[in-house]
Order: sequence, then C-alpha cells, then structure tokens
Amino acid sequence: MLKAIKIIALFIIKYLGGFWLARKLNKGNTCVLCYHGFAYDDEYLFRPKLFMRPESFKKRLAWLQDSPYKIVSLSEAVNNQHNGNLVVLTMDDGWAGTKELVGDTLAEHNFPLMLYVTSYYVQKQGAVINVALAYILWKSAGKTLVIDEPILSITKEYVISAENTVSIVTELCQLIDGVASFSVRQRVLLDIAKQLQVNLHSNGQLMFRSLNTEELTALQQSNVDIQLHTHRHCSPQNEQEFKLEVSQNIDYLQQLELINTLQHFCYPSGEYYLPQLPWLKECGVVTATTVSSGMLTSDTDRLQIPRFLDGADVHQIEFEAELCGLSSAIRKLASFK
Ligand SMILES: [Zn+2]
Repeated sequence: MLKAIKIIALFIIKYLGGFWLARKLNKGNTCVLCYHGFAYDDEYLFRPKLFMRPESFKKRLAWLQDSPYKIVSLSEAVNNQHNGNLVVLTMDDGWAGTKELVGDTLAEHNFPLMLYVTSYYVQKQGAVINVALAYILWKSAGKTLVIDEPILSITKEYVISAENTVSIVTELCQLIDGVASFSVRQRVLLDIAKQLQVNLHSNGQLMFRSLNTEELTALQQSNVDIQLHTHRHCSPQNEQEFKLEVSQNIDYLQQLELINTLQHFCYPSGEYYLPQLPWLKECGVVTATTVSSGMLTSDTDRLQIPRFLDGADVHQIEFEAELCGLSSAIRKLASFK
C-alpha cells in the first residue's frame, strides 16, 4: 500500500517537473547504479535485490540508451568535470548469469560497466553455498529436512518455515563450512536440494554459480571492466586479514588477461569500516563503492562512493527518481529530522 502511494506521488512529482528540476540541480553529479545477479527461474522473488529478471535489466538499459543521462565509466565520472547528468553502471559478485543471461544485452549497448568479482567461487566453480541453501529452504516452507550426514557429525530434523529459514541456513552453513573438501561441501548441498526436491539446475547449468575465467575474460569485449570484491566476499576488521583478502583477489584476477589495472574495489555486502580506507590505498585501490544512499559529487570521498541498489522490486518511476537525485535528496532531508 505504502509502495503504491509512493509510486503515485512520484508520478505526480515527475509530471509537475520535479524530476526535471532535480536533474538541473544535479548537473555534474553522478548516480552510481549497483546490480548483482540475474534470475534463471524464480530467484527474483527469493532475493529481488540479488537476482533481477534479465528482461527487466534489458528494459533498464534500453531506457538509459534514450534517456537524458550520459553513461560513463566510474573513472570518467571521478576524474573529469562534467556538465551533464551522469550514470555509472556497476555490478557485484560475478554471477554466471552476467554472461549467460544478460551477456547479449551488455554487448548490444556496450555501456561501460564495472564488474566487481569475488574470486573464490570463480576459481572453485560450484554453487555459492549460503545463497543456494537459502534459496532451497525458501522454496521448502512446510517441508521437513532430515540431516543425517556422517561428514557433518549431526543427525537432526528441521521443520522448515518462513520464520526459521535464516537460523537453519546459518546453522547448516557453519556445519558445511567445517568440511575441508570443496567437492564434498557441494555434494552435501546438492543432497539437501534433492531431498527437498528443489532443482538447482536450469537448462543443464548449475544455478548460483560464479562466472568462470573464460566467461569473465570474454565479458571484457562488451566494455566490462573487471575489478575487486575480495577473494571470499568478506570484510575483515583485522588489517592483515583484510589485506590478505584484497591481495588474494588481486593475485587471482591478475592471472586473467585483463585489459584494465586492478584499482577499483567494492565493499562486500556494503560492509566497511573507516580504518579499512588507508589499507585499501596501500593495496593500490583508488576508488571504493558502498551501498550508502547518495550521489557521487566532487566532494565525495573516492573510497566511500554511494550507490543505488537496483532490483526486481524497484519500479521504473522509483528508478528514475534515483537517477535524477530526487530520492537521495528526500532521504537526506528525512535523516536531518
Ligand atoms: Zn557482493
């Protein structure tokens, strides 16, 4: 209901010239958009911010193509002065759907896009366990899961409901993480999916997989700039551990035939701490993006660049209100209360 009221209000503001005025006031500023993965099936209902429908993404890029906004790379937005309204496209994690589901769309538009890649699952090639497990349980409300797995040293029954999914996922992930072998961890995951009759494959491809090295390097042909997102998608507060995550990420990605220098970073899950900023500089990082609200302006700290998280649950009018800067201005005003 609230969402419907918001959408109607935004349409009225747009047709009264509010978006036009916001664009005028935001000349020279940039809206940095953040995307993640894409849905092979119904994942956009499971986590709308993590898995967008490929057709929705296609519509967004088609709209941007004919819009008053100029699509530029993050480096271009940061390093040069502009008079127009700018948009930067970024994408996090490196989900396989980036090539399999929207690779043609990216090639068609050839917009500059920064893809922040977590390298562990690129290297290992399996389903990302915590996300895949959460999806399996999301699809299994009302079912009973029996864990009788010698390798996990546990025998337990879980009656799955919408309320206890998060706690079951946390408990099972802790147990699975304790298994040394990657292939055994994958086998345990697929056994759980089989028991609960949830299909983790689409057209013969494993869902929740990361891009492989061939797909990653091929994406560069479509103006995709591969950049940093830690090796294991985590944001340690300990200096040594944090730098190790960044350096392992750099070391792995450097083996690929990358066109661009690795010097841009995205904080995993938007989680970051101020002491990490100088550590990033020491690792050679020149920009870092968050998921905080706001526009990129000439005053923005280059290691705390705000972004708007687009997703399957974002209406086109909400998307446009973000691009022109109206929504972030309203949020800023509201936070002063
Ligand atoms: Zn991420």
